[in-house]
Amino acid sequence: MKLKVAVIPGDGIGPEIVAEARKVLDKTLSLFGHEIEYEELLLGGASIDAYGEPLTDETLEKAKKADAILMGSIGGDTNTSPWYKLPPQKRPEAGLLRLRKELNLFANLRPAILYPQLSAACPLKEELTRGGFDFVIVRELTGGLYFGNRSTTEENGEIKAVDTLVYTKSEIERVARRAFEIALLRNKKLISVDKANVLDSSRLWRKTVNEVADDYPDVSVEHILVDNCAMQLVKDPKHFDVVLTENMFGDILSDEASMITGSIGMLASASLNNTSFGLYEPSGGAAPDIAGCGIANPIAAILSAALLLRHSFKLEAEALAIEKAVRIVLEKGYRTKDIAFENNEMTVGTAKMGDLISCEVTQ
Ligand code: NAD
Repeated sequence: MKLKVAVIPGDGIGPEIVAEARKVLDKTLSLFGHEIEYEELLLGGASIDAYGEPLTDETLEKAKKADAILMGSIGGDTNTSPWYKLPPQKRPEAGLLRLRKELNLFANLRPAILYPQLSAACPLKEELTRGGFDFVIVRELTGGLYFGNRSTTEENGEIKAVDTLVYTKSEIERVARRAFEIALLRNKKLISVDKANVLDSSRLWRKTVNEVADDYPDVSVEHILVDNCAMQLVKDPKHFDVVLTENMFGDILSDEASMITGSIGMLASASLNNTSFGLYEPSGGAAPDIAGCGIANPIAAILSAALLLRHSFKLEAEALAIEKAVRIVLEKGYRTKDIAFENNEMTVGTAKMGDLISCEVTQ
């Protein structure tokens, strides 16, 4: 197979970790007899510096022509970077939001995995997490509160701010189908999160999820209110397999999930539309505090490359080979600084971690 992948190294640690993801991807694909063609694109701060805007139309067109996008992260220090003196629509994040919207990337997958080898990184009690856990959050990404109408007005001397939360049935249905498909590949257990006791949009969410569920009789469905879900994630994380939720709830719950896995540097993500196209990136940001130091954890970027193989190219054996290589390297005791707790002499830098994982990839 020949894969056409757009690469967005981005800002901060982005270029450092994407280089390691490419290293592992190249090794895996050559081992399994595939070819890959990369096209590098600028987004965020790097694009502002080069072209004066965070996403150009040319970049967007090139991104649309790729089969998938592998991304690092964008942005800088929001207190000191000149990018954040620009109006909001010219800042790095505006480029990423536009890219997601233009590519119709409505389903965001964030696997939350606690590797047994990293249990010391988990802030929860050991008896709750023994043996690790592995669930995935499927978050609706292009609707809801973050894409509603907003306004700030003054009425009778009082300032009033309004944000609207809108969901259509078809928006809910398409992300629910994605989540059910993913559940079929896993333990066939889907938990849908809403606030149906209060919100109309949540009542439509629950009704639509139940209708979609009729097409997936092998998947068990549970509904849970978002406040309860926030509690259960820290009380019983092993209970979860696939968590389906709307945009804002997913934003908050996926950060909670990343906290209980120990390090943001371990967490991959995928943003998908209704074709095989996807954008794959670490869950963390550009980490300007450690950019250029050679200590960033590249595992989230490497695992994002595995998701790219699985979801955009259906290369399951190749994706598993990368995930297995990561486990082997952790098992052997190697750590980057962010996950090095008790075993400091096995602490390695970004490039070395990429080399170690690359060496462990086997067919
Ligand atoms: P951040 O995720 O960049 O950093 C938070 C903390 O996690 C920092 O201490 C950082 O050093 C650490 N960290 C993150 N990734 C790491 C890795 N791979 N290895 C080791 N440590 C890692 O969050 P922030 O500081 O809030 O944001 C910094 C910039 O990144 C901002 O401009 C923000 O807007 C942007 N951002 C971009 C994305 C994206 O590109 N999708 C996502 C989140 C934040």
